Amino acid sequence: MRMIYADNAATTAVSAHVLQEMLPYYSEQYGNPSSLYAFGQTAHRAITKARGQVAAALGTTEREIYFTSGGSEADNWAIKGAAALGKAKGKTHIITTTIEHHAVLHTLDALKKEGFTVTYLPVYENGICRVEDVAAAITDETCLVTIMYANNEIGTIQPIGEIGALCRQKGVLFHTDAVQAVGHIPVDVQKDQIDLLSLSGHKLHAPKGVGALYCRKGIRLPNLIEGGAQESGRRAGTENVPGIVGLGVAITDAVAAMDENAKKLSVLRDKLLDGALQISHSRVTGDRTHRLPGHCSLCFEGVEGESLLLLLDAKGVCGSSGSACTSGSLDPSHVLLAIGLPHEVAHGSLRLTLSDDTTPEDIDYILSVLPPIIDRLRAMSPLWEHILEAEAQGKKLY
Ligand SMILES: *Cc1c(COP(=O)(O)O)cnc(C)c1O
Repeated sequence: MRMIYADNAATTAVSAHVLQEMLPYYSEQYGNPSSLYAFGQTAHRAITKARGQVAAALGTTEREIYFTSGGSEADNWAIKGAAALGKAKGKTHIITTTIEHHAVLHTLDALKKEGFTVTYLPVYENGICRVEDVAAAITDETCLVTIMYANNEIGTIQPIGEIGALCRQKGVLFHTDAVQAVGHIPVDVQKDQIDLLSLSGHKLHAPKGVGALYCRKGIRLPNLIEGGAQESGRRAGTENVPGIVGLGVAITDAVAAMDENAKKLSVLRDKLLDGALQISHSRVTGDRTHRLPGHCSLCFEGVEGESLLLLLDAKGVCGSSGSACTSGSLDPSHVLLAIGLPHEVAHGSLRLTLSDDTTPEDIDYILSVLPPIIDRLRAMSPLWEHILEAEAQGKKLY
């Protein structure tokens, strides 16, 4: 049976080119980048090259790039670091949105226990926050605004350039979790006036366990890990050389192919969304157009997301859902609730995220297996029966 991987917002395959460039650094070129002999310096040069590649992809200089173990680490470092800088000046207010990744939200929870206050901005039905709301929330106490570039669950893209300009004008640090954006849509830290930015390798065809933090020069973020002099002494530990090399190659490839991929993916995305919307009682979650090129997110009434995933899996399709079972709690995902979906509808969520490997035939196949699966689940659903009964009496439940 064919396997269609449509969960690229969860992770991506390491591309053949990336793997090929990484392999020598596991075997022949295994020197420690901190060693002075030429063998170590080869590894050191590879890191410097990758740092330049990441910097170029973001429109900045290599001195402002710090390698980390991934997106979560970069988010933690940026937010805790900016909070510490704020606290030193007596500023303990942070602004964010209700739809951030847990790496951001849980970091903010930890800071609240230390006395910080957090304002959570709404994102409305379209899943996009408003610059006016950011402006209205900034006070003399505000030390940080942290708003994601693009959302992992509903694919919506935030007005980052406008928020960056506002924060710069108000003298407030601005961090963005750009894990879903970098390599997929244009990101330029100068143009967008971003102070701190997190990215992750495994969302753009580099391996898991490597990422980076962009920290604008002049911002004295506290060290993350004490030890050796790696990453300018700010994040000690012998570097993940193959992973860093992979990140540099992957980000360069992604930026070079971005326009072409985005064009191709948005066509496939729209075909999948339009096809899925033919199913009755379905809706797109998040804005239809201000979304990532390969990102489809939908809800089907009278369906339970986890069962939907299992039946799709049985047909060889890998997707994900923000329903309660998959979110690991009793409630559906905070993102689906934040855009105003009733619990019952959020339970029927499906996310299919495409990559440059996705073909039109893959979309046809998904659209051929999806409707019968939805029919089958609805035939067993008391909720669906309830929805139909209410409609027979002229009432629309959701
Ligand atoms: C995947 C993801 C992260 C976490 O990145 P890791 O490298 O897995 O730690 C953070 N933020 C967003 C938006 C993500 O999609």
